[in-house]
Amino acid sequence: MGPAASVRSIRPIGSNPYAIATVPPVELRQQNLDRLSGGSFDVLIIGGGINGAVTAASLAARGISAAMVERSDFASFTSQESSNLIWGGFKYLENYELKLVWDLCTSRNLMMKSYPTRIKEIDFLATLDKTAPFPVALAALGSVGYWGFGRFATKGPRFYTAKGIEKAEPLVNTSTAKGGIRYADAYLPDNDSRFVWDYVRIALDHGATAVNYCSVDKAERNGDLWSVAVTDTVSGEQHSVSAKAIVNAAGPFVDGLNEGMELETEHRIVYSKGIHLIVPKLSENERVLAFFDDTGRLFYVIPMAHRSVIGTTDTRTDNPAEGVLDEDRDFLLEQINARLDLDTPLTKADIISERCGVRPLVVKNDGNDQIDVDWTSLSRKHEIETDKAKKVITIFGGKLTDCLNVGDEIAEELKSIGITGTRASKDWFGEPGQAEWDAFFEAATAVGLDRAPEVEQADTMAEVVWRRHGRAAHRVLELIIEDPALAQPALANSDLLRAELPIMAEREMIVRPDDFLRRRTKLAMITHRDDLGADPGMAEINATFGF
Ligand SMILES: Cc1cc2nc3c(=O)[nH]c(=O)nc-3n(C[C@H](O)[C@H](O)[C@H](O)COP(=O)(O)OP(=O)(O)OC[C@H]3O[C@@H](n4cnc5c(N)ncnc54)[C@H](O)[C@@H]3O)c2cc1C
Repeated sequence: MGPAASVRSIRPIGSNPYAIATVPPVELRQQNLDRLSGGSFDVLIIGGGINGAVTAASLAARGISAAMVERSDFASFTSQESSNLIWGGFKYLENYELKLVWDLCTSRNLMMKSYPTRIKEIDFLATLDKTAPFPVALAALGSVGYWGFGRFATKGPRFYTAKGIEKAEPLVNTSTAKGGIRYADAYLPDNDSRFVWDYVRIALDHGATAVNYCSVDKAERNGDLWSVAVTDTVSGEQHSVSAKAIVNAAGPFVDGLNEGMELETEHRIVYSKGIHLIVPKLSENERVLAFFDDTGRLFYVIPMAHRSVIGTTDTRTDNPAEGVLDEDRDFLLEQINARLDLDTPLTKADIISERCGVRPLVVKNDGNDQIDVDWTSLSRKHEIETDKAKKVITIFGGKLTDCLNVGDEIAEELKSIGITGTRASKDWFGEPGQAEWDAFFEAATAVGLDRAPEVEQADTMAEVVWRRHGRAAHRVLELIIEDPALAQPALANSDLLRAELPIMAEREMIVRPDDFLRRRTKLAMITHRDDLGADPGMAEINATFGF
C-alpha cells in the first residue's frame, strides 16, 4: 500500500473552537475556479450529474484536458434522486428490451467487481398478487432468464409459494398473493450522489478542473473554439472559458442548452417523474421487497441504513422541478399499506424525508410533441449524439448503472472530432484492491474500528469508512491516532466519525449544508431535519465547513 498522505496540512482556522479545524473548505473550489476562469480546455463538460462526472473522470484519465461545471452542487438534480440500484433492469424484460437488459447486466457485473464495498449485491423478494401483469410461473421463468443474462454472477433465483413468502418475510401481506420469486441485483448503500462525487474526485486527481455552483449562461462558437460565459452562483462573478469541444451532460436540461447553441438534434428528452418516501425501517431483513402496484407497475422497499425507502413511481410530467405532490404521497402510502401486514398503517407523519426526480428519457426529435404511448414503456437506454461541425456531444438519458459505458463512449466519440487521449489505465475507476483493503482493515482494527456500525449496512465501521473515502480513509485513521476522541460519531444515530469531517472539508468541495448533509452523506435522508438541527454535533460540522 502506498504511504498515506500527511495530515499536517490540516490547520486551525480563526476562532474555531475545535482542535481539528481544517483548511477552509473554499480552497479546493477556489483553486478550480482560478483554473477555470479564462482557461482554455480541450473539452468543457456542462453538468455535474453522473454522466458529467464520469465523463470528466474518463477524459482526465486519458490525459485530455477537461473542465466540468455544475450550476448547483454535483449530483444535485436527477443523480441524487435515483432508487440507488445498480441493476440489470429485470423489469425491462416486460417490454422485451433484451439488448438493454443484457448491456445493463454487463455494466452491473463490472460495477460489482470494481466496487466490492460501495456496491453490494442484494436479494429482491418479489410478491405477485392480482395486480401482477403476469403469472408466477412466467415470473419464475423470467428470473432464471435474467440470471442467465447476468451470466450467473449473482445468487441464483428461487420460486416461493404464498406460504413460503409468509415464512421468509412475515411482514408481507400474502392474503391475495399467488406466489413470488427471489432474484439478486445490487445497490449503493452509501447513496447515488456520493457515488457521483467519487467520479468528480477521480477527475480532480487526474488533473481535470471541476467547479460546482457555476452555471453556463451562453456558449458561442468563434472559429475553432467555443467561448463560454459562466456565472459563479456563489459570488455572482462572471468568467469566460474556451474549449475546442463541449459535452452537454445537462441531463433533463440538454435540449435547452442545445437550442442555445443553435444545434439540431435527432433526439430529445421527455420526463418521467419518480418519487421515494423514506420511513422508519420496515423489515429487519437486508433485502429489497418488490410489489406490483394497482397499475401493474413494480415498486420497491429498499434498505437505507436504519430506514426503508419506498418507491418509485413513474409519471409523465412536463416540469422537471415539479416535486412531490400530495397525490404522489397518498398513492405510495396506500400501495404499501395494502401490501404489508403492519401493526399500524404508515401515514404521512412517518415520512422522514422524500426524494423526487425526473428520468430524462430519450425520444426521436421528429417534431411530434404528442407522444401517445404508455410512458412506462419508453426505453431507459441512453443515446450519444455528436454534431461534428460544431463539436458538441450530447448525452441523452442514461442510468447510473451504465455510467462507465458513457465515459468510454464519449472518449471514443471525441476521436471523431479530432480529440484523442492516451489509453486509460485499467484502474481509473474502482476501489483499491484486496491487499490494500486488508492492510487498511488491520490498521483500522488497531484503532477499534473493527466494531459493528450502529446504523449502516456493513459488517464493520472500518468498511463504512473505507467505502466512503477509499485510500483517503488512512488519513481518517491518522487523525484518530492523534486524538482517539475523533473516533466518536459526529452526530447521534450516525456512523459518520468526527475524524471524517476535516478530511471531507479539505477534499470534497462542500459549499452549502446540503452538499454535506444530503449529497456527500445521506444524513438528511435518514434523519428528520428538526433532529439534525437540534443535534449538538452540528456545531462542529458548521464550524468545520464554515456554514
Ligand atoms: C426516480 C428515479 C429513479 C432512478 N433509479 C435509478 C436506479 O436505481 N439505477 C440507475 O442506474 N438509474 C436510475 N435512475 C436514472 C438515473 O438516476 C439518471 O439517468 C441519471 O442520474 C441522470 O444523470 P445525468 O447526469 O444525465 O443528469 P443529472 O443528474 O440531472 O445531471 C445534470 C446536471 O446538469 C446541470 N446543469 C443543467 N444546466 C446547466 C447549466 N446551464 N450549467 C451548468 N450545469 C447545468 C444540472 O444542475 C444537473 O445537476 C433513476 C432516475 C429517477 C428519476
